[in-house]
Amino acid sequence: MMKIITVLGARPQFIKAAAFSRELINYPEIEEIIVHTGQHYDQNMSDVFFEEMNIPYPKYKLQTGGKTHGAMTGQQLEQIEKILLDESPDLVLVYGDTNSTLAGALAAVKLHIPIAHVESGLRSFNRKMPEEINRILTDQISDYLFVPSESAKQNLLKEGISEHKIHVVGDIMYDVSLFYQDKAVKPKWFDSINLDNFVLCTIHRAENTDNISKLSSILNGLELSKKNIVLPLHPRTVGKIKQYGLNIPQNIKIVEPVGYLEMVWLEMNSDFIITDSGGVQKEAYFHQKYCITLREETEWVELVELGFNSLVGTNSQKIFSICNNLVNKTFTLGIYGNGHTSNSIINILS
Ligand code: UDP
Repeated sequence: MMKIITVLGARPQFIKAAAFSRELINYPEIEEIIVHTGQHYDQNMSDVFFEEMNIPYPKYKLQTGGKTHGAMTGQQLEQIEKILLDESPDLVLVYGDTNSTLAGALAAVKLHIPIAHVESGLRSFNRKMPEEINRILTDQISDYLFVPSESAKQNLLKEGISEHKIHVVGDIMYDVSLFYQDKAVKPKWFDSINLDNFVLCTIHRAENTDNISKLSSILNGLELSKKNIVLPLHPRTVGKIKQYGLNIPQNIKIVEPVGYLEMVWLEMNSDFIITDSGGVQKEAYFHQKYCITLREETEWVELVELGFNSLVGTNSQKIFSICNNLVNKTFTLGIYGNGHTSNSIINILS
């Protein structure tokens, strides 16, 4: 019997965990215990994913959300350490790049418990992003580094990580996208907003939300575009728009964050996607939608190189101009694996 403790806490991690936990059903010799750090805690940022994606209910649910980075990571570290001492797992599994990722890995390494990091090796090369620090440090102390692409592997090799620890397994979010593409659900409110066509947008990256001129420039660019924008808005961004007293342009329809099944529907039915999310950039590609990225750099460099994604930053003129000059693209799928990433990970671990 192998005992894995999965540490997660934020929306993109629930979605990745859904693929892994579903695959684990075929491996009765592996026990998975989920520790939810509570980094995201609203019903529509957390519980909805456990319910609709059949993610096993966390055995441990911490309350570390809504704090500064140091306080959050510190409290997670302390509480996860205690759980690891009680449970003595064979492995700790972490996903992505949040504070929960780093805290889970750090607690494990000090107790000499092997660490698997899924979605390893991604780099924005922007150390002002908290996510970048979380990634670099987690990768340095992980034992199994599961990377989605060859470029991610090269990033790790350049940081001196031994090749034998690195496994190119594709992107676990592709597994999820394939599984849910024919289970997508139209949001209940959609018909009432009366749109024949729309552009899906998400904004939540701290570098955009925590800067009034960037956030207002994005909103301005979206207004100039004259597109019908549907914007399921992250609680952080809602808070900042209120704090800065920004007006929401007429052509932007703001809605509450949606569950994954509704998100997939919106992605699949949109004309194109505008986002600063890491995960949504890839989902745009999986559903063959052009993506405009509201950042200066991306971890998903292949998508830009192949012309499926444009990095426009936050300049309103650039946002306007790209929205109105898109050329039709023929998408070639397959650059992030074959949709069997969770299976490959489990085979390697077991
Ligand atoms: N997502 C969702 N509902 C929303 C917005 C996003 O289910 O209202 C999903 C999205 O489909 C993707 C994931 O959340 O799978 C991305 O998470 P997020 O953008 O919060 O984080 P990032 O990927 O940037 O780390």
